[in-house]
Amino acid sequence: MAPRLSFTIPVLNEQEVLPHLFSALLELRGKLDQWKCEFIFVNDGSHDLSANLLDQFAQSHEGVTIVHFSRNFGQQAAYSAGLSLACGDAVIMMDADLQDDPEQVLLLLAEFERGFDVVYGIRESREAGWLINVAYTLFYRILKTVSTIEIPADTGDFCVMSSRVAKQIAELPEVHRYLRGMRAWVGFRQKGVPLPRAARKAGVTKYSLRKLFRLALDGVFSFSLWPLRVSFLLGMSVMTLAGLFLCINLLMWCLTDIVPSGYTTTIGFLILLSGLQFLLLGVIGEYIGRIFQQVKGRPVYVVARVVGGTLQKKLDWQESN
Ligand code: UDP
Ligand code: MG
Repeated sequence: MAPRLSFTIPVLNEQEVLPHLFSALLELRGKLDQWKCEFIFVNDGSHDLSANLLDQFAQSHEGVTIVHFSRNFGQQAAYSAGLSLACGDAVIMMDADLQDDPEQVLLLLAEFERGFDVVYGIRESREAGWLINVAYTLFYRILKTVSTIEIPADTGDFCVMSSRVAKQIAELPEVHRYLRGMRAWVGFRQKGVPLPRAARKAGVTKYSLRKLFRLALDGVFSFSLWPLRVSFLLGMSVMTLAGLFLCINLLMWCLTDIVPSGYTTTIGFLILLSGLQFLLLGVIGEYIGRIFQQVKGRPVYVVARVVGGTLQKKLDWQESN
């Protein structure tokens, strides 16, 4: 029996790009005749024509499944849904806007077939403004330094992974899902392949700066205790400095007639220290907020309806194993 290959693709308001994507995927399927392909599109609460386009595509083609979320839950939630429904021996994660070039899937699969569990794209170049590029580069370097596990720099979600990795990731109970970190955490044999990253084929980015920032925070706070350690170190340094300052003042008071004055210094220190305390509280608060959201145990997404047969296929597949 031919091995199965599942594509998971998150979609939010992509009506301009979907027709291009469908034809690129069909062309790719023609080149992947050794694989049995299924396409799982997760409609992450689109309010343009994406839902209709996706449903039409599912109705007119074999092996296409559309998962409609009840509202927008975010790209990482959409990928998570795709991963838990995928029943392929290999699973591809790719964005809908053709920035992850379907042709590059062939390169990823070539490496995958050499025995890797995960083959991910490393962004060689990025078609974005210089400020965004600098921010990305900085962020990935910081994350690499502070995270408790090795998260490779400049990688996106674009990858192929084995079913055992997909299953592990799908079953991780985290609500703050930073998938490229979770993928690294799972382990097994992983390999990065440098790939140029094209500009989006049509439409505009669905990642506002706020969403990007939140994703970046998820990366840092889900994979590092470093902010807490820095807070501790900062607290220790300030206390040491304050101690020294007090000693010097005391000595001056005992040994000389110079009475230390310093209204400005006092106010300055007060403001500095209260600012520092708020900052540290903010860092602790960030962790507590995450614990709060985690213990509530709400699901990562809510599915409104599924069009196409993956669920059934998955049951059949489980029964036959
Ligand atoms: N996306 C999603 N939900 C969101 C934001 C984005 O499903 O809340 C999808 C989007 O449709 C696309 C992919 O995630 O397929 C990546 O988004 P985008 O290309 O807008 O991000 P960028 O590449 O600009 O970072
Ligand atoms: Mg994009």
